[in-house]
Amino acid sequence: EHRLAENGGAGLATARPSPSGSGWDNCIDYYIKKQLRVWCRLQNRQWELGNIQSVLGGKASVTLLDGTVMKVSTGELLPANSEVLDGVNNLVELSYLNEPSVLCNLQYRYHRDVIYTMAGPVLLAINPFKDALNSGNDVIMAYKEKILDSPHVYAIADTAYSDMMRDGLNQSIIISGESGAGKSITTKLAIEYLTEVGGENSELASRIRECGFILEAFGNAKTSRNKNSSRFGKLIDINYDAKGIIRGACIHTLILMFEQSRISQLCRSERSYHVFYQMCAGSSSDLRDKLNLRMASEYKFLNQSGCLKVHDVDDAHNFKKLTEAMDTLQISHEDQDRIFILLAAILWLGNIAFEVTDHENHVTVVIDEASRSAARLMGCKINDLKVALSSHKNQTLMLQQAIDTRDALAKFVYTSLFSWLVKTINISLEGDKELTGKSISILDTYGFESYQKNSFEQLLINYAEERLHQHFVRHLFKLEQEEYESEGIDWKQIEFVDNQGCLDLFEEKTVGLLSTLNEVSNDSEATSLIFVNKLKQRLSSTLGFNNEKEAFRVHHYAGEVQYESTGFLEKNKDALQSDTILFLSSCCGNFLSNESNLSDLNKQTAVTKFKDRLFKLIKQLENSKPHFIQCVRPNAKQLQGMYEKDIVLQQLRCNGVFEIVKMSKSRYPTRMTHQEFANRFCCLLSDQTRCQDSLSTSVAILQQYHVLPEMYQLGFTKIYFRADQVSILEKLRQQVM
Ligand code: ADP
Repeated sequence: EHRLAENGGAGLATARPSPSGSGWDNCIDYYIKKQLRVWCRLQNRQWELGNIQSVLGGKASVTLLDGTVMKVSTGELLPANSEVLDGVNNLVELSYLNEPSVLCNLQYRYHRDVIYTMAGPVLLAINPFKDALNSGNDVIMAYKEKILDSPHVYAIADTAYSDMMRDGLNQSIIISGESGAGKSITTKLAIEYLTEVGGENSELASRIRECGFILEAFGNAKTSRNKNSSRFGKLIDINYDAKGIIRGACIHTLILMFEQSRISQLCRSERSYHVFYQMCAGSSSDLRDKLNLRMASEYKFLNQSGCLKVHDVDDAHNFKKLTEAMDTLQISHEDQDRIFILLAAILWLGNIAFEVTDHENHVTVVIDEASRSAARLMGCKINDLKVALSSHKNQTLMLQQAIDTRDALAKFVYTSLFSWLVKTINISLEGDKELTGKSISILDTYGFESYQKNSFEQLLINYAEERLHQHFVRHLFKLEQEEYESEGIDWKQIEFVDNQGCLDLFEEKTVGLLSTLNEVSNDSEATSLIFVNKLKQRLSSTLGFNNEKEAFRVHHYAGEVQYESTGFLEKNKDALQSDTILFLSSCCGNFLSNESNLSDLNKQTAVTKFKDRLFKLIKQLENSKPHFIQCVRPNAKQLQGMYEKDIVLQQLRCNGVFEIVKMSKSRYPTRMTHQEFANRFCCLLSDQTRCQDSLSTSVAILQQYHVLPEMYQLGFTKIYFRADQVSILEKLRQQVM
């Protein structure tokens, strides 16, 4: 007879008395006698470890590790975990889950270059800002062969792959975190692993790996927070056949139609998209001649921010890598040339100047090297370009209108180029559709953004983050707790912060933030003040306002953000004039006009387009089993070795890490219907003890093998098990089979 209980233990309370709602009253003597460690909050609000020596009138005398003796109120003490739990792999293993214990556990690991820790089922990844020497082929092989099983991106990717193979279901790996927290690098590691395990098709695998570099060149830029910030969201599906071999891949992007403003306007110390600098620094002399290319410093679109170089980044070398990656993706040299021609055209467009011709500020295009080069590269006559940039419906434009038209044209060319590129990459990754079975999707988004000054871009980025956070909350808290309830399981609800309210604020049909923005954008006379006033009328109970800046404040799950509404309406309308469209379809060698349905362009606002794409992505995710990775920024300065507790704590709190761990401690991770359980394990019963119905059979198995009552619960249709219980039965089953 086997006793399962000895192997269990998950979820059991610890034996020592611990402080509860009533405080330390009933256990302080025990802590003193056993000299158990406690956390003690000092006057500077920092937590330090120490031992209680004595207590008198609610004040404890505590000896800290360095020997100092402090007097603190017992309200400032928290139980600490014993030394054996220092640096555990999964926060679930901690007996006490208070903030200092969790922070200290992560710090303990971080300072030993162990950047990954599990929080229940979620992987936390703390950005090392240096090579933590824990990636690459050897490490991949170690995870693949199960020599290593400590928390890692590779371990998560391995679980996703194994789950897909075992259950025949699509999987997703959702990577979240603030800008600069390490999402792009984490995505790369996940792709590395998933292309390696699904090997054999090495040509396709290397294309999938290389396409990231191309997308980065065109979609990433240096911002004030991150020298390689993704300015677009992406979902990469890797498709496998029934044997688990890669058969194709597909990229879906969530493009910031509005981050196009990065093309023509840069904030101080930020850069435009990497590819411009790479091309200016790394082109061959042949290509330079063809494009009439200058150094980045000579282009207005690039030199206006006072930042042309990024520390430790070699743009010329990266240009070489970019063209090599394009070769790997089989983008023809002819197409590569077309890409660079359009990029150069954009740069020259930015240098086009206008001359005022009358006292009403009407303008004409200055005919010089810039306008000549732009026209030549775009494949049009200089006169056509001149007309397109300086007139609208036969009326001559005024200076600001002409500048706006020029910038809109440049942005449009870039966005179309990006769409063309994604499409071309997807053709190269398509592989063998016939053989494709299930997929693993990897989602890498922008990350929550909150700056001193936040605009339309941040509003949509943060809206997307709210949507994804809801996906997270739904899968980790809502669905599971609802299931326990409907199955009649004895379950104490875990409180969590649900951001549905914030989403409603954005999405409410007629009076929500996004509808209001669209409604006001439709009115050609409207101003940002009118927009903010309308928000005040409709949403004054949920939004905050700052009249001086025509700003409104949203309470996001990750903190409050103030958005300054100037420019919102223009960015949302984002429409090209119809004659500019006509002009475009006649040049650029039809390259772009084929890409986007030009006639549809004006119909939808940027908000509507963004929301549509976001919903498509979420729908795709809903169709898969999620695995979550949360990237954490350990400091605001992008420095290695620096662990700022307040910054880490803020991110853990916003992402509900404490609640997730609490939930994991009490959840029942394995579940089977009575029928499935009875069918699978009835072989463990002797003939006499077998029963007719599946519920009685299940109960008989559980009793005969002494599965402890706290290790499982019987629901109306399913049996729920604590971690590891079923694997013990599985082993027994294998012995009798
Ligand atoms: P995000 O995509 O979240 O904005 P990134 O993945 O671009 O952030 O990371 C920002 C920077 O942090 C990277 O350029 C890199 O220098 C560093 N970094 C992030 N993750 C790691 C890692 N696992 N190992 C080494 N450096 C990292």
